[in-house]
Amino acid sequence: MKHYDYIVCGAGCAGLTFLYEILSLQNLQQKKVLVIDSNLQKENDRTWCFWEKGNSRFENLVYHKWENLHFNSTHFSSTLNIKPCVYKQIIGIDFYNYVLDFAKQFSNVTFIKEEIIGIENENNLGCVKTNSGTFTAEYIFNSTFITTTRNDFKTPNSLLQHFKGIEIETTENYFNTQQATFMDFSISQNLGTAFVYVLATSPTKALVEYTFFTKNILLQNEYDNLLKDYINNTLKIKDYKITHTEFGVIPMTDFVFEKYNNRIINIGTVGGAVKASTGFTFKNIQKQIQQIVALLEQNKKPYLKRSFTDRKFHLYDSVLLEVIAKNKMKGDEIFAAIFKKNKPQLVLKFLDNETNIFEDLKIMSSVPTRIFLPIAIQKLLNTWR
Ligand SMILES: Cc1cc2nc3c(=O)[nH]c(=O)nc-3n(C[C@H](O)[C@H](O)[C@H](O)COP(=O)(O)OP(=O)(O)OC[C@H]3O[C@@H](n4cnc5c(N)ncnc54)[C@H](O)[C@@H]3O)c2cc1C
Repeated sequence: MKHYDYIVCGAGCAGLTFLYEILSLQNLQQKKVLVIDSNLQKENDRTWCFWEKGNSRFENLVYHKWENLHFNSTHFSSTLNIKPCVYKQIIGIDFYNYVLDFAKQFSNVTFIKEEIIGIENENNLGCVKTNSGTFTAEYIFNSTFITTTRNDFKTPNSLLQHFKGIEIETTENYFNTQQATFMDFSISQNLGTAFVYVLATSPTKALVEYTFFTKNILLQNEYDNLLKDYINNTLKIKDYKITHTEFGVIPMTDFVFEKYNNRIINIGTVGGAVKASTGFTFKNIQKQIQQIVALLEQNKKPYLKRSFTDRKFHLYDSVLLEVIAKNKMKGDEIFAAIFKKNKPQLVLKFLDNETNIFEDLKIMSSVPTRIFLPIAIQKLLNTWR
């Protein structure tokens, strides 16, 4: 049995962010660390977009930035200037390679490529089991679904955010690289809330992604046909080649994730980093890991407690999920009302869980109280019962 200070279970966005952060700090970079992932040969499997003011922790990896976001729906359409926020894009493989290369200079970090079959607390140590053995540590930072199954996420109002995106290259200049189509709801809403985003990174290159907030995913060829139709008939592009494909399913749930259990610290998606009402996760992972690492740096237990703000935004997200899941108001109408009646900077701050109660009320007054308020009151009563 081998013992480490920390074991990182899962070397994806959260695991590698954690690794990068501890190795960047003088008093943590000597820790003996084991990183286990069944797939260490990273592929370019995803692209992360997020907005922020100022520089990102991974600013050097930012591939493209936009200061203008286009919102389109049958209810409201506008190109929104989001300054001083900037919408940024990081390519998955750039991030993976950057952190893995950085970690190579540390002989105290060991990587093993194996399937994790168990994560437990044993004798006040974290214990990880794989087919080749058992490893123990002071703390385990887990981003795999071993401690929480995907079925746990299913609540009566949970949805799946599922999407397929293709990067296309055209022969002629077509795209405006100064603006990103953030949400185009002008497509059919028959299957549920659906929108397309178009992220142009050169006049001839863009990522076009078709996204749903619904209960069930589609067949791959159904996404392909929808993407083809959008590119041909909405973007009016006939001649293009596909240079990259990505597919994802993100839980949109009001399930309360267990953030820690003695020696096991859940991070990333399984640590509750997904914003339930939008699916945005990347920036939440950065915030979550920075808070955990700050506690480790101060030699404290890396336990993130649920704050009042966490509970407040959990309630808002839960209400929104119920409204959409029970079809009390359509997702495109809700987002259109919010973007129409508020400054985009305020909407982005709200979606970042950073608004105060007065700002929350301003956003909430954009949507019909008669639909949202009874659901919110019912949820509050349920939590007190
Ligand atoms: C295609 C795609 C695009 C996305 N785009 C955005 C975006 O634009 N903006 C945004 O904010 N969020 C986005 N997300 C959501 C979110 O940011 C990502 O899902 C993010 O990668 C989640 O990080 P994570 O560390 O929790 O999980 P992952 O990055 O999925 O990492 C989990 C790791 O655990 C490993 N693992 C799992 N089980 C085992 C096991 N049993 N044994 C060993 N290893 C195991 C996996 O191989 C993986 O490396 C996107 C997600 C996808 C899939």
